Amino acid sequence: MMENLNLFTSTQDVIKEALTKLGFNEEMYELLKEPLRMLTVRMPIRMDDGTVKVFTGYRAQHNDAVGPTKGGVRFHPEVDEDEVRALSMWMTIKCGIVGLPYGGGKGGIICDPRTMSMGEIERLSRGYVRAISQIVGPTKDIPAPDVYTNSQIMAWMMDEYSRLRENDSPGFITGKPIVLGGSEGREKATAQGVTICIEEAAKKKGFSLKGARIVIQGFGNAGSFLAKFLHEEGAKVIGISDAYGALHDPDGLDIDYLLDRRDSFGTVTTLFENTITNKELLELDCDILVPAAISNQITSENAGNIKASIVVEAANGPTTTEATKILTERGILLVPDVLASSGGVTVSYFEWVQNNQGYYWSEDEVNDKLRDKLVDAFNNVYHTSETRKVDMRLAAYMVGLRYAAEASKFRGWV
Ligand code: GLU
Repeated sequence: MMENLNLFTSTQDVIKEALTKLGFNEEMYELLKEPLRMLTVRMPIRMDDGTVKVFTGYRAQHNDAVGPTKGGVRFHPEVDEDEVRALSMWMTIKCGIVGLPYGGGKGGIICDPRTMSMGEIERLSRGYVRAISQIVGPTKDIPAPDVYTNSQIMAWMMDEYSRLRENDSPGFITGKPIVLGGSEGREKATAQGVTICIEEAAKKKGFSLKGARIVIQGFGNAGSFLAKFLHEEGAKVIGISDAYGALHDPDGLDIDYLLDRRDSFGTVTTLFENTITNKELLELDCDILVPAAISNQITSENAGNIKASIVVEAANGPTTTEATKILTERGILLVPDVLASSGGVTVSYFEWVQNNQGYYWSEDEVNDKLRDKLVDAFNNVYHTSETRKVDMRLAAYMVGLRYAAEASKFRGWV
């Protein structure tokens, strides 16, 4: 049988398994197997050369039983409906794992911001908010950054929404610049969360991060901050990559130099001649491998060649179901995406809480709260995996989905 690389249907399979293990019936699966709402929008945008280009975008809202839906918006040429659907389902699970009062949502626009001017990106960001404005809002669905979107884009979107509503609405979106109601610690939050998961996973495997050899695939927001944090903790980052290639040095890379030279999309390897491929990077001899780039990177083809003893998924969907089985059978501790990458939405929640109360916390306060939530979440998932004898991904789905399923039940939906 061909391996299933469709993120949406493979997610449905794990959801079904998790709900069955939790003792929920078929009706609950029918409810949670796809988003409650999926909006497709087409946005005519005036480009700098005077022509009009019509962009397609999506907003999916998986389940709002627990509370408003929440999740990022990605700008990427390969965005498609199934991906956005799957990503919204993962957000429900992420929020459930950390215990946030949200359901999952996600948005995406098919575009390549790397080839667009700031003005074009601004007009597209504002156009998207106008197109989805009816279904979003601080108590309905709260967007945030994701692949190739950042705090400037969140600022434009917040401004557009506030103008439409004729009300300053910082709580409409998270990941904003600090001066517009952003939270201290939000920009680094995904990487902080991954670092906390790595620390906890290393404890379980009985080794210290000092001197541990780390390979990180991807040098975007998550990958670059992560490299910095792990480097500061005394780990040896021996491999990193971007969309164009990878760098390897068994003695440890000069992380400060690479951080200094990366561009805003995380590209840095193009400055070097001596590169390896992303495929080679994943199979390097190391202790901890962190896929922090795109989906379907570890498949049945290379799962047998992974040398790391811990794999921590900072990206969404980097490991296929088949590969999850292979890694688990090989005794590799896999920290699944829905757990490892939940730091971002956790601090987004803190941002929204601060916007609602109009009182702001220090970075230390935010980081302490994040640590408390993620250490608990990690240990909850690990414990479920041990006691229910299921792999870490299934355990994470079980912990995360219980929230949405129970809330749907209490509301009388199922
Ligand atoms: N895009 C991030 C994620 O996939 C953050 C979402 C949010 O902050 O709402 O988790």
